[in-house]
Amino acid sequence: MTADIITKGARRMRRRHHPIRNLIILALVIFALVKIGPDNLNRTLDNGVRGFQTFVHKYRTTPAFEVQQSASSSAESSESSATSSSSSAKGATDDATPIESVVQGIKLSNTYHYTFASGTTQQVRDLFARAVAVYNKTGVVYLDPGQGTKYQNTITFGQYRTVSPQGQQAEELGKAGPRVYQYSGGENFTVNRAEAKLNIQYADKLDDTTALHELGHALGIDHSTNEHSIMYPYDEANQQLTAADVNTLREIYARTSE
Ligand SMILES: [Zn+2]
Repeated sequence: MTADIITKGARRMRRRHHPIRNLIILALVIFALVKIGPDNLNRTLDNGVRGFQTFVHKYRTTPAFEVQQSASSSAESSESSATSSSSSAKGATDDATPIESVVQGIKLSNTYHYTFASGTTQQVRDLFARAVAVYNKTGVVYLDPGQGTKYQNTITFGQYRTVSPQGQQAEELGKAGPRVYQYSGGENFTVNRAEAKLNIQYADKLDDTTALHELGHALGIDHSTNEHSIMYPYDEANQQLTAADVNTLREIYARTSE
């Protein structure tokens, strides 16, 4: 998050050498660093890893007619521009939990089947199992154990190991995201084959918050600036979803319930 601010600021400074503008940017950067503070920097939930949060794969099961192909490939480019405008149009407040760009404007079933990758430790299994129970309690999404068919949403839970760079003052605890597949041609359907993983390098720091946060990414909710939100990027030991978190989930999955 801070990295975003610094990069944008640096880019602007290069373009216009306006002294007042530079001062304002400097003040904003200092404010952001002070506000986040060294304490909160110790445990970032996932370092804002966006690698596969922003992964959209368009896959056609059958090479359909030429007309259909060109129609769906043009939809691919218009999709991103159409969705970015719809997100801000929702009258979102600062406290609203954002929707992952990948699931913007996409219709997904509210039912998921989940499995654990082989070799997943009992600690990671337990944390994700408790997180599943919390999301099921919302009544907005339904997560059941099992494989699921190719038409059904799936989540694969697992673990990985990575050492956060020294001097970063932050430890990456997990990574996750939706992977949306849109099939067109013979059969038309859209599924989310999500993944959520915990970094066992810091096994002693993994907690319910981490699992709830990563599962949130998998289901399509994105980082919030509200420190009570489960999608706040730093571990504040939140144990439950806020109303804003649930509202955003509802917004994603209500599209399909009719
Ligand atoms: Zn995150």
